Amino acid sequence: MKPDAPQSERTTAAANKAARPDAHAPSDLAPPPAAKFRVISEPLLVGCTLVAMVAGAIFERTSGLSAPGTLVAYGIAYGSGGYFGLRAGLASLREHKVDIDLLMILAAIGAAAIGAPFEGSLLLFLFSLSNVLQEHALDRTRSAIEALKKLKPDQALVVTNKDDAHPTLHRVEEIEVGTLILVRPGDRIALDGEVTSGFSGVDQSPITGESLPVEKKPGDEVLAGSINQNGRLIITVTRDVSESTLARVITMVEEARINQARTERFLNTFEQYYAGGVIIATILLGTLPALAGFWEWGVTLYRAITFMVAASPCALIISTPASILSAIGNGARNGILFKGGVHVEQAGLVRAIAFDKTGTLTEGKPQVTEIIPLASIPEHEVLRIAAALEQGSEHVIANAILAAARERSIEIPAMTDFDSTSGVGVQGSVAGVLYRIGSPRILADCTTDNSQLHTALERVERSAQTAVIVVQITNSRNSAANEPVVRPVGIIALRDRIREDAKETVSLLQSAGIRHVVMLTGDNERTAQAIAAEAGIDHVFAELLPEDKLEAIRQVEEQFGPTAMVGDGVNDAPALAAARIGIAMGAAGTDVAMETADIVLLTDDLRKLGHLFALSRRTRKTLVVNLSLAMALIAMMVIGIYTVDLPLPLAVLGHEGGTVLVSLNGLRLLRYRPHVTM
Ligand code: ADP
Ligand code: MG
Repeated sequence: MKPDAPQSERTTAAANKAARPDAHAPSDLAPPPAAKFRVISEPLLVGCTLVAMVAGAIFERTSGLSAPGTLVAYGIAYGSGGYFGLRAGLASLREHKVDIDLLMILAAIGAAAIGAPFEGSLLLFLFSLSNVLQEHALDRTRSAIEALKKLKPDQALVVTNKDDAHPTLHRVEEIEVGTLILVRPGDRIALDGEVTSGFSGVDQSPITGESLPVEKKPGDEVLAGSINQNGRLIITVTRDVSESTLARVITMVEEARINQARTERFLNTFEQYYAGGVIIATILLGTLPALAGFWEWGVTLYRAITFMVAASPCALIISTPASILSAIGNGARNGILFKGGVHVEQAGLVRAIAFDKTGTLTEGKPQVTEIIPLASIPEHEVLRIAAALEQGSEHVIANAILAAARERSIEIPAMTDFDSTSGVGVQGSVAGVLYRIGSPRILADCTTDNSQLHTALERVERSAQTAVIVVQITNSRNSAANEPVVRPVGIIALRDRIREDAKETVSLLQSAGIRHVVMLTGDNERTAQAIAAEAGIDHVFAELLPEDKLEAIRQVEEQFGPTAMVGDGVNDAPALAAARIGIAMGAAGTDVAMETADIVLLTDDLRKLGHLFALSRRTRKTLVVNLSLAMALIAMMVIGIYTVDLPLPLAVLGHEGGTVLVSLNGLRLLRYRPHVTM
């Protein structure tokens, strides 16, 4: 953790500040020794405070306030109840900051000074209790990360070639990219890599949440943390251990605690001024009325101390981080990674959601369903040319076309002069002839009017399939302008299945309060409309180039309010960054999307979006309820002190009881589960 960032550790409240210097690096989330000590000692001290306080009260009853037994008991209560608060308060003071820890210590001392040590002890007891509660929220987040870390094997079997009979065990940190590692059946895969030889089912559920094992064959990507099931795999390592998907996921969760929520950041600044203000007001209230001859000194002081207790903003300061952390912890256990508290709050404000189509609403694995030859060129020749061009592309459509060619045992010819236009298609020369393949957009400069083409195109697109067109480009001989002649050669139809849960997700989102669901795609209008209809989406932005997606997001925001973008691809990254909230789908999605997004869904399960938005809305609601409750309490008590003589014990109970109450209310978010009413 960076020395200037650990404001988040504020969340562990009071005592933690004292431990800041030994705060740990994000890569190592094991609580620092001081924190470990605190986890055990803080509850102990709270218990000790309670016992000493009760003993003090009994002694006071039986033998009077100044009896040695009474003094010792209250002394112990003050010592144990105030230990961490004092350390934290002094640490802040050294940074020239006044905070609630200091305020509480001062109030407790003040209470003792006016002969009310029981109230002082009660104050310290409840204050440290609410800190412990908050600590609990942090621990839960931490344990979610610990669980992820357990997935990370620290050794792997290195081999020199695929038949190497003597693998050697190495620490993962020592293994470089390009090394071959052996993964036996039942082993956990230690590093991200590509299968070089072997076939096996791999259970990726720990990372992606997909419960069914995925069949892996040579050339497929595997992720560290997943479990190899039945076959023996040789894997070429493609990422260092620190770069692996799992490692990055862990870093993200850790950093979530550093990125404070906006309310939290505001409260941090607010706390100092407010606490300073309370101290000054207490001094004034504790002197002026007596000096002016209004009330006697005793009454003046008593009321001033009561005021100090009542006016302290503990409930505000402590409950907010506890609520946010609880929400982050809840998310982490449900495969939803918030990269910071601020995103929990922001997600709670979202009014509209924009989905990328390919790979997000659909499975992103299109399959060639039909080849429609247009010129006198036979079907398999169309596919042969298409496959030749697509060798240069990484698009899912390219993979589908190459797979179809291989399936038909078509020998793929060499291709030269490759060029690609993102969101449109690719071009290249095959046997000296220039071809282009891509969206119907490439027909823009097509001069021939071809009714057969348009009829076929319309039929394919209406059936929710994507049509890509193969065209031949020749230099015209007779045209003076020397414009190239574009001659359509064939259409290839591809079907990308819509995700099973897409429709359910859209209605889940609507019941979570997000009324506007939009789809963005580079695919053509008719296909987009057909797919949107299947998913129950009413607004479609189609035929977008990657840069248009960003503009589309702006439009949606303008029309409907704060918008979340859900995407998986490289071409979604600008929109993910531009949207109020960017959500990347699946840890196995593209790295760029995962890095750019504010929230990462570890699973491919779209329905998690329902949980995500219900949770963040509930969190916002909790924050608002807690803030209003805390402020109302403060106002009521301050008024009470100066009108109906609210006594100190009641102020302590009202104020600190309120703090414990709102903290507990925040912690409820850990267990929050949206009821699915379907
Ligand atoms: P999406 O927004 O749906 O993820 P893209 O922006 O990547 O889609 O692509 C939009 C359209 O461009 C595709 O539907 C397809 O028609 C065309 N296209 C892009 N790349 C290729 C390619 N390599 N081969 C064929 N068509 C392509
Ligand atoms: Mg996509």
